[in-house]
Amino acid sequence: MKNRILFIFLSISMFYMTYKIIVAKIFPMRGMIADFSSPFLRIFAGVLFFVLGILFLFLFFKRKPKTPQYTKCPNCKEVFNYNELKDGKCKNCKDVDTIDLDEYFKKYPDELEEKEE
Ligand SMILES: [Zn+2]
Repeated sequence: MKNRILFIFLSISMFYMTYKIIVAKIFPMRGMIADFSSPFLRIFAGVLFFVLGILFLFLFFKRKPKTPQYTKCPNCKEVFNYNELKDGKCKNCKDVDTIDLDEYFKKYPDELEEKEE
């Protein structure tokens, strides 16, 4: 959660820098003001900061806890749509946790081979 706030803060900072460089043509840094009157420098630095801003924005939205789409019960081998389940418990077996399909076949690779045959 703390990381997400950091990412959105960094993203806004990067877009602010982009604005400063492209529009205001100055770059305030440690009390110094770098001169971005050269169009090449301005475009180069502007694009760089803009890309960084997009990157941090992407990280901000990406950092959601992943919910599995399909899960499988290790007991009765039934595959379920996760949204249909209550807390990820198997409908048939009750109180048995179903496992995310990808995780499931990592745990039981033998069953994946059977499926492919
Ligand atoms: Zn089951």
